[in-house]
Amino acid sequence: MEYRRTAVIKLDTPEGADAHLQETVEQFKYCANTASRWCWHGDDGYHVTSKAKAERGLYDQLREDTELTANLVQKGIRQAVEAVKSGVERLTNDQDTSRPTFTADTAIYDKRSATFHRDHVSLSTVDGRIGCDYILPDDADVPPTKYVTDEEYEFRRATLHRRDGDWYLHASMLKEDDTDTTTGHRTVLGVDLGVNQLAVASTGRFWSADEFNHWKREYEKRRGDLQQCGTRAAHDAIEGVEQKEDGRFEIFLHRVANEIVAEAVEHDCSHIVFEDLTDIRENVPDASWHHLWAFRRLYEYVEYKAREQGVESVQVDPRNTSKRCSTCGFTHDDNRHQESFECLKCGYKNHADYNASKNIGLQYLRRRQNADAGGVPVDVRLNRGTLNVSGEYDLPASSEA
Ligand SMILES: [Zn+2]
Repeated sequence: MEYRRTAVIKLDTPEGADAHLQETVEQFKYCANTASRWCWHGDDGYHVTSKAKAERGLYDQLREDTELTANLVQKGIRQAVEAVKSGVERLTNDQDTSRPTFTADTAIYDKRSATFHRDHVSLSTVDGRIGCDYILPDDADVPPTKYVTDEEYEFRRATLHRRDGDWYLHASMLKEDDTDTTTGHRTVLGVDLGVNQLAVASTGRFWSADEFNHWKREYEKRRGDLQQCGTRAAHDAIEGVEQKEDGRFEIFLHRVANEIVAEAVEHDCSHIVFEDLTDIRENVPDASWHHLWAFRRLYEYVEYKAREQGVESVQVDPRNTSKRCSTCGFTHDDNRHQESFECLKCGYKNHADYNASKNIGLQYLRRRQNADAGGVPVDVRLNRGTLNVSGEYDLPASSEA
């Protein structure tokens, strides 16, 4: 099993280094933007998406134009090609897109352009190598200290960032666990989405939708009042309200997404499992378009935030996840009464959305087990111990879990 983590490390830069680091990220941006212009041919539909081709066409010129090392120039070109590729993908899906531009103060390093140590890093710059110490929180159990000080985590690559005048290293770290690789053990976090509880994880963590529902009501009320006015000023005011509310919803959803990803990372889950959002209107009949929007947005946020942590997000067929008993598998309409679940067969009792979140995790594991055909051990992470694919608890045994 592989554990991929991103450690965000604040750097203590030596005196005088600031200007050199800044010039390095400026020149890196120059490489990426030059490559983007070269690869993106506008409206004729032809774009260069081959790294080798872009390097052949640009490398010599960019080496001449900049003071960057060969490796950094290559990384700048590759970053642009990756972005052009996803732009082309969006074009083929008829989505809005335009030529990628790079404005953030960043540069991408690997082990040839940087030497990673446990307490400092040596970075290639326009002025030779610069060594920067890490500023790490004392608590060895929390990220990034947890990963940086753990010799089992290897530095793979890193992005140098400037934020509010400070320099940070976003380091991709990898730990490979031999014992787990041979068994192919998998642990997943199941997540149920709903109207009252926006999200419930199979670890027993709940994210209430109260705040969201409250804003939604206020928003609709204000919107309704303004619409009755019907004036130009009211129209502008509606747009203002919409923008402000969209911003609030987004911040809220980002926070929930971050917490869901942290929950998965904390419990060493390789996957976060959601129900398939395509037909979610049928499965959550009370959901308004606001909720459907929130579910989709939340999934998108979780998906990309989780990927940064090496955790994959997947969707599964949601059939029966709310009616099925996560303990014995008995499926019946009468098992569920609104928010409470009580199995008619085995008597298992719990919050209905929590029961559903476990079923969502199990659904994915069953699918994987069939696909693997080898019967790889698989678990859903719960608040106490884990639930395996046949619905039995591993450890510790508990009737409440
Ligand atoms: Zn049961």
